[in-house]
Order: sequence, then structure tokens, then C-alpha cells
Amino acid sequence: MIAAAGETTAANTGEGQFARYASGLWPSFAEELEGASAATVSYIRNGAVFVVGPGDAFTVGEGVSKISADAARTIEPMLTGEYDEIFWAPDEAQVDNRALGPALTRALVRAGGRILRESAIMVETKNGRATGVRTGAERVNADAVVMAAGAWCSHIGGVPEELRAVRPIKGEMIALAGVGGPLTRVVRSADCYLVPRGARIFVGATVQDAGFDTSLTPIAARQLQRSAVALVPALAEWSVVEHWTGFRPRTPDDLPVLGPTSVEGLFAATGQFRNGILFAPALAEVVSRAVLDRQPVPIEFSSHRFATGVDVCA
Ligand SMILES: Cc1cc2nc3c(=O)[nH]c(=O)nc-3n(C[C@H](O)[C@H](O)[C@H](O)COP(=O)(O)OP(=O)(O)OC[C@H]3O[C@@H](n4cnc5c(N)ncnc54)[C@H](O)[C@@H]3O)c2cc1C
Repeated sequence: MIAAAGETTAANTGEGQFARYASGLWPSFAEELEGASAATVSYIRNGAVFVVGPGDAFTVGEGVSKISADAARTIEPMLTGEYDEIFWAPDEAQVDNRALGPALTRALVRAGGRILRESAIMVETKNGRATGVRTGAERVNADAVVMAAGAWCSHIGGVPEELRAVRPIKGEMIALAGVGGPLTRVVRSADCYLVPRGARIFVGATVQDAGFDTSLTPIAARQLQRSAVALVPALAEWSVVEHWTGFRPRTPDDLPVLGPTSVEGLFAATGQFRNGILFAPALAEVVSRAVLDRQPVPIEFSSHRFATGVDVCA
């Protein structure tokens, strides 16, 4: 989901503004990426429907309006249940996340970049400055090192404490397949979200503080399926055809860590928590400007907030 309204309801915060800015970059980012990679990433901005129950905490964000059940059914015919309140967010979008990585890889290689399919073991430094990265097989020299290892940043030797603040938050998801539909829009409730993916529907997601536990729990799959059926009754006839897990990179204040770190030449591009795909084009812009032009990053995303002994205004 490219869910600036659904995921960051506090529109007047730095995060909300960043989310909306990122969401606005997505159409041109997707087009440029498809052109540069000759691959498709299926970006589509066709809105999301939020179903809100009596006790649900829900803040109506910018560009979100209340609609009737009839209007909701016109927008999304699979919404045949009984709902308390329904809201429509026309600017929400979706992209095929599984196509994104390969497309970015192709674009990078076509632009002359080199991919080393090895783990970085250590950030190399000389006189307190990052000079490259050591993998199991070789040493890669670099003028700048950007740490973008998601939840795994703390596993890499030589990273400063501000990058060790990033922890994994496990998320399990399922895919449903069946007869009927298709669903075309993202549909959300307090308990789950449904994302159309071809004839299938992805249902997400659990949020578990469980370290790097990769186990797939039947209880999570059942809960997600139950929540999906509560939202779209026809899904009672659909089956779970896939079940997987991933790790969100979370910081203590749930905001990204971007830009310069306390190690000169080492830059952060992580901590996106639930919104790494939404943030991607804006995050790339902010971090590349910090690396290439030494432009400051928004202060609420500065890595210095997790570093002791570093002046945040520096
Ligand atoms: C279930 C679930 C659903 C989500 N849904 C959404 C959504 O709808 N919209 C949204 O915007 N976000 C969503 N997110 C969040 C989003 O996936 C993350 O914020 C995003 O993936 C973070 O991007 P990243 O590139 O920093 O980290 P990752 O995507 O985790 O990538 C980090 C990469 O670094 C690699 N790596 C790790 N260690 C090393 C090493 N030592 N050397 C080299 N490489 C290394 C890893 O293999 C991995 O490829 C979801 C997350 C989960 C778990």
C-alpha cells in the first residue's frame, strides 16, 4: 500500500507531511522506474476504503471523506457486509511490492551500477571516517556508505549506536484465492487490510515484537482470515494459498533515521517501520541529497537523536 492517509493520520506532523510528499512522488517515480528497468511495477492510484467500527480509533485525514454503504458498494462491489461507518480515501495507491526489488535492481545495473550478492559484515573506518564495507569475500572501498539493511542494520560490525537503535517488528501476512471478486481497491478495518493482487487478495498484517522469529503461526493466519471475512463476507469461501512473514525496521520513536551518522561518511536510510514502500521515493531523494550535496535531512529524522554526545543542531 502507498497509504499516506491510512498509515499516517497525523497529517500536520513531519511524518504526515513526508508521507504525503512521498505519495505525490510515486506516479513519476513508478514511471521513471519502469522506463529505466523495462519492467512493470503495477503502480495504481485508485483509492482505499476504510471501514470503521464503534470502538475504533480513527482520525479522518486530509482528503478522506465519509461515504454511504451504497456508495462503498459502487466503489467496491465486494463490500456487501453491514458496516458502522465507511470512509473513502481516493488518493491512496498500491504497487506490486514483489516487482519493485527486481525492477530497482535492473534499473541500477542498466545505469552502470554493480550488485554484489554478499552480506556486508563490517563497515570499515579509517581515522573515524567510513572508507568502505567488508563482505565475506572482499573489501569494497567507498567515498560514502549508505546503511539500508532494514531491520538488520545492528548486525553489521562498526555501525554506531544510532543504527543499533533499529529493531525488527515481525509481520505475518496471508494470500487468499477463491471465486468471485476481484477486489480492486485497498480495503481496511482496524483489524486488517486487504490488498488486491491479481485474482488474489493479500491480507495483512500482524505486528509482533518477536525479534527475528521467522515462524509462521497458524493462529495469525486464522486471525487474519477471520478479520478478512468480517470485512468482506464472500471471503468465507476463499482459501489461504500463501502465508509469509517479514520484518519492519522500527526505531524507538517509530520515525525513520536518515542522513549523516556520527561516523563521517556513513549515512542512514532505515527505520521506515510500516511505511518503507510509501516513503521510498522521498527517502531516496533526502538521502541522496544528504550524501551528494550535504543537504540537511528533516530534523525529526536525523540519526543524531539516537546518538549520545552529538549536538542535534550540528
Ligand atoms: C507484513 C508487512 C507488510 C508491510 N506493508 C507495507 C505497506 O503496505 N506499505 C509500506 O509502505 N510498507 C509496508 N511494510 C514496511 C516495509 O516493508 C518496510 O518499511 C521496508 O521494507 C523497509 O525497507 P528497507 O529497504 O529499509 O528494508 P528491507 O526491505 O528489510 O530491506 C533490507 C535489505 O537489506 C538486506 N540486508 C540485511 N543485512 C544485510 C547485510 N549484512 N549485507 C547486505 N544486505 C543486507 C536484506 O536482505 C534486505 O534485502 C510492510 C512490512 C511488513 C513486514
